Formats: sequence, structure tokens, C-alpha cells
Amino acid sequence: MSMSSRVKHRCAGSIPNLWHSSTATTRSGFLPERIVHLHPTRLCNLSCLHCYSESDPSHKEALDPDVLGAALGLLRAEGYVLLSLSGGEPLLYPPLRAVVEQSRELGFRVTMISNGLLATKRMDSVLSLLDGVAISFDGLAATHNAMRRRSDAFERACAAVQRIAATGRPVAAAISLTREAIPELPDLADHLVSLGVRALQVRPVARAGRARSLADCSFHSSSDYARLYLVVLALQKELSPEVQVHCDLAPAKGLWQQRDAYSGLLGSCETVPLEDRPLADLVNPLVVIDTGLLKPIAYDFDGRFDVASIDGLSSDYLRCYKRQRLPALQKLIGGALASMQARQGLVDWFDHCARLSEDCFRTSAPIGSAEL
Ligand code: SF4
Repeated sequence: MSMSSRVKHRCAGSIPNLWHSSTATTRSGFLPERIVHLHPTRLCNLSCLHCYSESDPSHKEALDPDVLGAALGLLRAEGYVLLSLSGGEPLLYPPLRAVVEQSRELGFRVTMISNGLLATKRMDSVLSLLDGVAISFDGLAATHNAMRRRSDAFERACAAVQRIAATGRPVAAAISLTREAIPELPDLADHLVSLGVRALQVRPVARAGRARSLADCSFHSSSDYARLYLVVLALQKELSPEVQVHCDLAPAKGLWQQRDAYSGLLGSCETVPLEDRPLADLVNPLVVIDTGLLKPIAYDFDGRFDVASIDGLSSDYLRCYKRQRLPALQKLIGGALASMQARQGLVDWFDHCARLSEDCFRTSAPIGSAEL
């Protein structure tokens, strides 16, 4: 029995007919690149209050570099071009250098998100291999340190930005904000730009992992989304083109208008069967979590949508996934996109899809993910 025929949930049904063309575009979803997000460990030197992966110093486990290397080779052949490392704290992953070197040999460009505390001179030999580094921030010093539960976290993250920028390598800031921290964004942006960041990636804190324990007032209403979006627009106007400012929020109507970005996943192609198409055209981003599971779109995407495990990953397995299990993702994304047409306001698209992945199975019978 196919997976789609077992699924009984409120987003089940036929895939919305959003495309009439059989042509694939160069985009794969709303991202400009085909990306693998790699979380090789949940070991972290911090235990932040909002951590969606619930990382902390107690998590000693890490992915086996040989198994990971073999899987990355296959994923490169499936069309992914950018490897984005995070964690946990990636600088605590013992085989980091070897994995970065191997990934580059495979043809990946490699970037990293770090809390910055360990991005010292000692790490220069690894940092110099990267195509970009982003240091994470949550607000100005008091807010950042409270969220990070460490009194010198902001100072050391800023020092990391300044040091990396001074070497001439590109450095960005990945800024995640609670509702209360929105007013701090302009001053934070000014400060980070003065330290040398060339890009700001802004997103609202997601209600995932340890962040689920934050007070309700930390999360954003639709009017908070609007406030945050307006601040980002003002920063774009002020800082472009020297500094790129990006926000994970987007107007629902704009997402609907850009729906062709998903024609790889949702459009029909009469000449190439689904199973023969590269995974990167269909699932983007792809997330490799610390257990070795491959997930579509987000770290906390519901496990019933898991793609595979890196253990014993093979082209044959991926062909089977595309043929039998991908339809559930097509239905979810197709339904989510179709709902954008009538929706007002702003959407955090990937978080929206992750929440839908949980909701659409809430009332359902178990499905075939146990076959993994
Ligand atoms: S948010 Fe980042 S720095 Fe904080 S505990 Fe999680 S992985 Fe570590």
C-alpha cells in the first residue's frame, strides 16, 4: 500500500493543481540554492532558552564522519550544492575539519552558523576553509546573555564577528528575535555592521524545541510579524547594498505569486518520472540531524515525513522514497501554498510548513514512516 493511501489527515487529498506547465524552473522552493543543513551533533557549550534542537553540554553523541561522508557524496550527486553547518555548536564536532575538507572536495560550498564563543584564533584553520560564517544573536547584550544563559555570550560573539571580519572573510549575523526583542533590532544591526557583518538574517523565534517553554508573550502575533517586517524593510533601505538584510517572513500573497518556485516538487513532468529526478529539485532544504535522519525543510519537521537515514543511504532507497513517500510532502506543500492565495499578512514559511507537518497527522492513524 502506498504511503499516500494510508494517510488520513486533514491535509490529505489530491495535490492542488497549481501548475499547468511541465517545465521545471531553476528554483527548488523559495531558496536560491539547493541546501543541506547539517546538524552533526547536539553538543553545545551553551544551553539557550530558545534552542529548537535542545542542544546543550550533555549531548556527547555525534555523527560518524565516514557514514556522513558517504551520504554527502550521494547528496551532492542528488544536486545539493551548499552545505550549511550548525548544531549544537559545530566547532565542537571533533571531525569538523575533515568533514569540511571532504565536502569541499565533493564540490559543496560550505557555510557555518556558530554561537561565536569558540571562533577564536585557534579555529582559524577551519574557519578559513569556509565560504561564509554566521554568528547567532538574539538582541542587545542583556537580552542575548539572558537567552544564552551566559553573561559574556554577547561580548564574545561580537569579538568573533570583529575578528573574522578583520581577516577579510565574509561574516554574517543570524538574528533570532522574541517579540520583546523587536525594538532592539535597529541598534543591534548598527552595532553588528560597525563590527563588520556583511549580511543580517532576521527571523522570529519559532515555537520549537526548548523555545516551547518560553512565555507566550515571547512569541509573535500577526501584528508583531508586521512590526518586525517593517523594521527589516527600513534596515534594507538604510544598509543596502553594502549589507544584505534578509527576513524569514514574507507576505502570503507574495509566496502565492512565487509558487512557480515549487514547480519541481509540485509540477508534472511528462518526460522524467519523479524517481529519476534529483532529490534537490524536490526537497529543499534537506536537513541532516544528529541522529542521522534526513528531514525535509526543518529540523523539527514531523518524523512521519522523514526521507531516510544516512546509515546505508543509497540511490535505490532515494528512488523508492521519491516514488512512494514523497506524495505526502507534495500534498503538504501544495496545500500550504494553495492556502496562501486567500491568506492575509506575513508568513514564516518554513516554520509554517513544520507546524503543518505536526498538525496534519494529529488526528491520523500511523503511517509508513516505520519502513525507514
Ligand atoms: S541555540 Fe545554538 S548556541 Fe544555543 S544551545 Fe542551541 S545550538 Fe547551542
